[in-house]
Amino acid sequence: MLDPTDWQAFRLLGHCILDELIDAMEGVREQPTWQAVPDGVKDHFDAPLPCEPQALDDVYREFTETILPYPTGNIHPRFFGWVHGGGTPAGALADFMAATMNSNLGGREHAAVYVERQVVRWFCELFGFTAQGSGILLAGTSIANFAGILVAKTACLGTATRSTGLRQDDRRLTGYASSATHACVRKAFEMAGLGSASLRVIATDESQRIRIKDLRLAIARDRADGFTPFLIVGNAGTVDTGAIDPLVQLANIARDERLWFHVDGAFGAAAFLSKRLRPLLEGIELAASIAFDFHKWFHVPYDAACLIVRDAQLHRQTFSSEGPYITRTDHGLASGNPWFADFGPDLSRGFRALKVWLTLKHFGTNRIADAIEMNCNQARLLASMVEADDDLELAAKVHLNVVCFRSKRTDNDALAAAVQDSGRAVVSATTVNGARALRACFTNHRTRDEDVRELFAAVKAFSGSV
Ligand SMILES: *Cc1c(COP(=O)(O)O)cnc(C)c1O
Repeated sequence: MLDPTDWQAFRLLGHCILDELIDAMEGVREQPTWQAVPDGVKDHFDAPLPCEPQALDDVYREFTETILPYPTGNIHPRFFGWVHGGGTPAGALADFMAATMNSNLGGREHAAVYVERQVVRWFCELFGFTAQGSGILLAGTSIANFAGILVAKTACLGTATRSTGLRQDDRRLTGYASSATHACVRKAFEMAGLGSASLRVIATDESQRIRIKDLRLAIARDRADGFTPFLIVGNAGTVDTGAIDPLVQLANIARDERLWFHVDGAFGAAAFLSKRLRPLLEGIELAASIAFDFHKWFHVPYDAACLIVRDAQLHRQTFSSEGPYITRTDHGLASGNPWFADFGPDLSRGFRALKVWLTLKHFGTNRIADAIEMNCNQARLLASMVEADDDLELAAKVHLNVVCFRSKRTDNDALAAAVQDSGRAVVSATTVNGARALRACFTNHRTRDEDVRELFAAVKAFSGSV
């Protein structure tokens, strides 16, 4: 009843939409990187819930006038803010293909499930997990870290607390991560019911990497005080500076102390595709679980991330789900055991695996690795320009693809906002070693060296005036 009454008219409009959106993607370089949403446009979104139908082309026109011109900007080649992926036109088509099938990957027996299983297997193999490994695609690394921490809890406490809750267990769990760790790990401790106070924040060295000595001391102190250490979270690319913790040492400590070793590789894990960069991540293959985003440095459109777990059984024990309405059978559509619903929090799950699968097949890991190496070179280019400048200075070591730098003369938050407002480029700001700094993150395959120079010129243009 909701399908088009006139398929031919729908087809024509569909082709027109496809053409216009392909034009928009092709011409993105000519657009401002970002522009504020005008108040008059915002007013549009105050309209009430629509009860009456409206022609599809009218709604589409509204989209092109009020939504399309005011994006985050992350598909633009001069977007360097936070850690955003640029996606690809091929990935956008994959999203459309997936939407036409509208598959539900909570489980059951259909081809889409095999696509996701294949993607998971590729990454279990890439990171040296054996055939016993498992994994699942999730909305982002925030939720993938959360899921990994829940599996770590199962490894320590068993499955009893799934029903009893944590208060029925005497053990007070503690986890460990550096002060440079993403805030989602703290949030994960909160959501897991462990409490963020149970996450021991370990200081970093001058290169923003976890201090191993402090970590050992903290674990020993907690044991002496009657706590139960259960988890170390290592960073493969911290959000602020791209620092990589000494993963081999963390793995060794986790092994000696019998702790779960989880790696947050949100963007950094992608560097594993590059033979040149892979040595930087040495030790990631020793993790018990790894969380990483496809929507950042793998250039898959939002949203797509992955959790892989070395021990599939623990993974499944953490999330296995049941109910009379999801009884599994030996054959028919209700077969296909195990279901993805047994490996994560969601029952209904979209076909995000298709855009990952298509992106990997279409570009191959070698081209993705080339784009990653290019971004690291661009980060070094910007760093060298900053170092040669009298008014700017590097605020942190450049480990990978992130450059933190600051103007010695201006408020760096105001400077970031001025550059954003100009539409010439987007940088964000953060705190490094106690002081605010600009932060340029290179995760965009569209960026050219000339864009790096334009970013630098924009920063210079405003650094005297804000
Ligand atoms: C982006 C990021 C996250 C959070 O991932 P989302 O996909 O935004 O949920 C976690 N850790 C690091 C290091 C990140 O860069």
